[in-house]
Amino acid sequence: MNLVHLLPVGKLDGALLRELRDAIPRRLHVACEVLPYELDPTPSYHAERQQYHSSEILQRMQALVRAHYWRLLAVADVDLYIPILKYVFGEAQMGGPCAVVSLHRLRQEFYGLDRDDALLGQRVLKESVHELGHTLNLRHCQDYRCVMASSHSVEWIDLRESTLCDSCRSQVESKAALAGKRA
Ligand SMILES: [Zn+2]
Ligand SMILES: [Zn+2]
Repeated sequence: MNLVHLLPVGKLDGALLRELRDAIPRRLHVACEVLPYELDPTPSYHAERQQYHSSEILQRMQALVRAHYWRLLAVADVDLYIPILKYVFGEAQMGGPCAVVSLHRLRQEFYGLDRDDALLGQRVLKESVHELGHTLNLRHCQDYRCVMASSHSVEWIDLRESTLCDSCRSQVESKAALAGKRA
């Protein structure tokens, strides 16, 4: 079965990572494991923006990809950006194998609201499935409930389901990428 490796970026909440590891296989036909080491985000920090360049994190992940890895999904807790945008929730390599998501702007506390671990867990799951969808060559979907809908704020993420719509699913399955067969 296709295997997604989760890569912690810096120190992360172990319970949250384990929850994500257990949840992803319920949305995509994949197995999921947490890697026993972490990626240091520091080299991707840009003081002029006080943020971390997500494309640079993806580049550095490339060196960690092993032949038996199907997808490598980094989970960060720092604020990510790409130069043309104020921030990103995540970024992926179209067609794979690497993607990164950040918890930073998924936390209610970021917006001055009370901490909500259940909501955070749902949001990071949706973002993870979304970025993994891009690694499977899926583009943004017009159906706002589809996990592949674009989102410019957490409110949009909350509107989405954590699953692919029928159209996105059939695109992926026609390539047999998620058919659960041996790659
Ligand atoms: Zn996207
Ligand atoms: Zn869709």
